[in-house]
Amino acid sequence: MNSLKLVTLDLDNTLWDVEKTIRAAEQELVQWLAQHAGAAHKIYSSSDMVELRNQTLQQHANLRHDLSRLRIEVLFNVMRAAQYPEDEARKLAEAAFEVFFAGRNRVVFFPHALEMLQTLSARYPIYALTNGNADTTRTGISQYLRGAISSAQVGASKPDPRMFQAALDQAGVQAHQCVHIGDHLDDDIKGANAVGMHSIWVNLHKTQSVDKALQPSFEVTHLSEIVSTVASIEATLI
Ligand SMILES: [Mg+2]
Repeated sequence: MNSLKLVTLDLDNTLWDVEKTIRAAEQELVQWLAQHAGAAHKIYSSSDMVELRNQTLQQHANLRHDLSRLRIEVLFNVMRAAQYPEDEARKLAEAAFEVFFAGRNRVVFFPHALEMLQTLSARYPIYALTNGNADTTRTGISQYLRGAISSAQVGASKPDPRMFQAALDQAGVQAHQCVHIGDHLDDDIKGANAVGMHSIWVNLHKTQSVDKALQPSFEVTHLSEIVSTVASIEATLI
């Protein structure tokens, strides 16, 4: 029978405001550096960081889909630039990253996010599908998820079809049996549509889509609309 068998779900800016989360995490990191690695703090707060980030990206091009490891390498290069010996620089970089990462996972959910996860997860297996490095356990959503796929694992980022295919393969379902939910028109909607999934555009800021050719199956402006929207997709399949 034709029915909906899988929900894939974007995380950043779909369940929480990622820019706000990262700004707060950055502040905690900067405070930690000031207390524990003064010379590195000076560099981290300076304009040299643009160049240092670019250098790190060139040095570790293979990590461009793995934001956690990339950030550790940036911090390592900051420590080295601050003249810490290699061993100490590595330890400090990892300790500094842990401070950042704790903050990065201290998310403030959008209204109705957890209720939506609870209701949906009782009806469908849900896979997280993210280009970011949020930790599903630390953010407190792993109890609602059957799986989680990140660009770091796949080695590619949405809208690359390999991301969507990884979820379909792991769940053992076909694209037309799956709906992807996300806030980003290119990464989420274009990507999901291209592999033949249904799509729900989470448009919380009520922005206009500029690309008329790019149509989500459905659009919501509040997370409380998701459950009924998924149900209406299910209804078209029966
Ligand atoms: Mg997003």
